[in-house]
Amino acid sequence: MEKRKQIYEGKAKKVFATDDDHFLIVEYKDDATAFNGLKKGTIAGKGIINNKMSNIFMEMLEKQGVPTHFAEQLSDRETLVKKVSIIPLEVIVRNIAAGSFSKRYGTEEGLVFESPVIEFSYKNDDLGDPLINDYHAVALKLITADEIEIIKNYAFKTNDFLKKFWSGCGITLVDFKLEFGKTSDGAIILADEISPDTSRLWDTSTGKKLDKDRFRRDLGDVEAAYTEVMSRLEKHI
Ligand code: ADP
Ligand code: UDP
Repeated sequence: MEKRKQIYEGKAKKVFATDDDHFLIVEYKDDATAFNGLKKGTIAGKGIINNKMSNIFMEMLEKQGVPTHFAEQLSDRETLVKKVSIIPLEVIVRNIAAGSFSKRYGTEEGLVFESPVIEFSYKNDDLGDPLINDYHAVALKLITADEIEIIKNYAFKTNDFLKKFWSGCGITLVDFKLEFGKTSDGAIILADEISPDTSRLWDTSTGKKLDKDRFRRDLGDVEAAYTEVMSRLEKHI
C-alpha cells in the first residue's frame, strides 16, 4: 500500500493516508510529552520500541479474541493499520493504585486491588481529558450502552492477557490506557498503541519503574527502561 499525505501529527505519532481508504499508516516518533503537553522531550529509540511492542501485543490479542487495528509492520517506525473513527474515550484499566488514581483518592501508590478497576476519560484536550462514567459517555453520545459493554469486555480480556504476559517477564502491570475505534462497517476494534508510554510497568522484584513515569518524574534511565522491557518481552515470546 502506498503512503499518501500526512493527515495528523500527534504527540507521539504521525498518521498518514494511504491509497486505500480503509487503511492508514502510523509513524512512531521519539517525542515524549506529559502533563497535557506541558512537559516536552525526546526518548531516543522510543518510537522503534513502541511500534514493535504494540504490534506484537496486538497480534497476540487478536488470537485472544480482541479485534485490533493491526495490519502489517512496514518498517522500524511505521505500521499499516485499519482506519477507524476513534471513540473519544481513554479506557484505563488498573490493577494497582498509581498516578492520578492515587492523587484523586489519596491512596499510596502500590495498593493492590482485589479485582481490576476500569475507568474512562473523555478525550478532549481543551477540557483536560476529564474522568467520566458510563452514563456520562452515553449521555454525551460518545458511545452507546451496548458498545461500552463490548469495550469493557475487550479491555478486561486485554488486562488478563497482558498481566499474565508481563508477569512471565518479571514485570508487574500496574495500569494502562487503551483506545477503541469503529470501522466503516461498525465493528469496534482496539486501536492506537500498547507500550511503556501508555502502561505502568514495575520490575516485580525491585519495584523499579520501567515506563514513561521515568520521563514524567525525571527519574533518569528513561531509554534504558524502554530497552529493558523490550528485551524482556523478546526473550519471552
Ligand atoms: P495524540 O493525538 O494524543 O497526541 P498520538 O501522537 O499517538 O496521540 O497520535 C495518534 C493519533 O491517531 C491519536 O489521535 C489516535 O487516537 C489516532 N489513532 C490511533 N489508531 C488509529 C486508527 N487505527 N485509525 C484512526 N486513528 C487512529
Ligand atoms: N495514560 C495514557 N495517556 C493519557 C493518560 C494516561 O497513556 O493521556 C496511561 C498512563 O501511562 C498510565 C494509565 O494510563 O499507564 C493511567 O494513567 P493515570 O490516569 O494515572 O494518569 P497520569 O498519572 O499519567 O496522569
